[in-house]
Amino acid sequence: MEEALTAGTIGLGLIVGSFLNVVIHRLPLKQDIVFRPSHCPRCQTAIPFYLNVPLLSYLVLLGRCRSCRAPISPRYPLVEGLTAFSFWLAVDVYGLSLHAGAAAVFLSLLIALAAIDLQHMILPDELTLGGSALFFIYSFFHPEIGPLQAVLSGAGAALFFAALFYAYLKLRQTEGLGFGDVKMVLLLGLFLGARRLTAAIFLASFSGLIVGLAIIVLKRKNLKLALPFGPFLALGAYAALFWGDGLLDWIGALWGRP
Ligand SMILES: [Zn+2]
Repeated sequence: MEEALTAGTIGLGLIVGSFLNVVIHRLPLKQDIVFRPSHCPRCQTAIPFYLNVPLLSYLVLLGRCRSCRAPISPRYPLVEGLTAFSFWLAVDVYGLSLHAGAAAVFLSLLIALAAIDLQHMILPDELTLGGSALFFIYSFFHPEIGPLQAVLSGAGAALFFAALFYAYLKLRQTEGLGFGDVKMVLLLGLFLGARRLTAAIFLASFSGLIVGLAIIVLKRKNLKLALPFGPFLALGAYAALFWGDGLLDWIGALWGRP
């Protein structure tokens, strides 16, 4: 029974991951997500359903389109594998429950937002604001935080990020953060609550700083490099959902609090 649950969860994760790839590719291009069949982005050849199997098709086709031999981005198997892992992790941590389902949806949104921001430097409203609406409704069923904490955490963080956004704009005459980041922290707060959101923003800033410095040192680029912050927010939120409480306890202990 345990094995069947694991296999079912991973299978569902692979299917959702395959759908996320469609969202990641089409949403920024404003293409229809539901009704247009999968096709090769270069030669437009439709992909037959028997070759539209997550992970397996990539292996069978050796990472190339069957018609024009164009290389298929490794993003496809990566997103599918990561989504399957996330579904498994959610059920492993929360058991077979409504909250595991909500966590799986939350992690799926993080994966899509990170992938789109990496490629296009945008965080689509459909995902940030659509996700926020969904998780506002879910806050009434959330076993750990209520709607009040959810709204205060999300709106508080969004106001803080909006203030940073306008301050940077005024000082440097250029956008430091995107306004999409403001909407994304609203989404994160609505599901994570105050403590885990704090851990998420801490982890995002810390990892963003490390990667930013590494790029400046290794590629000798100047400080004005544009690095999307969404992938770091996604990474921070992913880690904070499962390990945020432990991280804050650890930091608290470092400051000498019990
Ligand atoms: Zn092709």
